[in-house]
Amino acid sequence: MAHEHGELPPPILEEVAAGVYSYVQPDGTWFINNTGFVVGPDHVVVVDATSTEARTVAFIDAIRSVTDKPIATLINTHHHGDHTHGNYLFEGATIVAHEECRKVMMANGGINDYSAAFPGVEWGDLQFAPPTLTFSGALDLHVGDVTLELRDMGFVAHTEGDVTAWIEAHKVLFAGDLVFHGGTPFSLFGSVSGTIDAMDRLEAQGASVLVPGHGPVARGDGLRSALDDQREYLTFVQKEAGVGMEAGRTPLEHAQEVDLGRFAEWSDSERLVGNLHVAYREAGKNPEFRIDLAIMDMVAFNGGALPRCLA
Ligand SMILES: [Zn+2]
Repeated sequence: MAHEHGELPPPILEEVAAGVYSYVQPDGTWFINNTGFVVGPDHVVVVDATSTEARTVAFIDAIRSVTDKPIATLINTHHHGDHTHGNYLFEGATIVAHEECRKVMMANGGINDYSAAFPGVEWGDLQFAPPTLTFSGALDLHVGDVTLELRDMGFVAHTEGDVTAWIEAHKVLFAGDLVFHGGTPFSLFGSVSGTIDAMDRLEAQGASVLVPGHGPVARGDGLRSALDDQREYLTFVQKEAGVGMEAGRTPLEHAQEVDLGRFAEWSDSERLVGNLHVAYREAGKNPEFRIDLAIMDMVAFNGGALPRCLA
């Protein structure tokens, strides 16, 4: 049983600065992520793969519509499958990531099997291809006269190994999943407070163009409000966690009481439950914290329905 994809608009390839491209996949929900690439004089550097074979093949076709230069380097902004499943299709490329990103992928020991949680997705013949070059702190990649400054946060945020790619010459920032533009942030694999701190770091960068991990490219006022929105939502989660703990409710029980207000319009709102689990843990009130239990609570929050995934 495969999903109907007809309802989703096609990916948007855009040259956001000279030789710098964003590749935005609508609608940015579960497993539908953004990527990008930089075309240099003799090679191409890519930021992130996608979740399925078909989507990554389509992305590579989009790169080939612009250039036939070899893809020398693929960056993984973090370990999640929507950004790394397609790594194996970039044959011969050096795969660069944070050392913690590779560590998690190696500990998982291969491609995670999501067939139970996300049935109906045609993943394709995925092959495990972990990063081959890792760093922590900072790493600069030079592509002709453009420098991609890869930086970690120095703390756990969306995951334990988030990497951003900054191009100072064009003020372009690839933010990975530190930013879900128009979608619900998801801190279950990381930290609510760390993701809030990451917003301050991203804001201080002074970007003109921000390519988020999900959702449309942000610029100018839209860029500032995208970061503010993420920060406000996560602060709201912390506040609600305080209310829920005070009332002696579990994260799920409290999630069912929460009025999401304007955040209710964002996609994937069941992530509230996972985020509350983390906020409780960070307040020292969730000693039993387990990712799988939090996911089961997200399904319960949806009345037993699995998360809507159109990948
Ligand atoms: Zn993602």
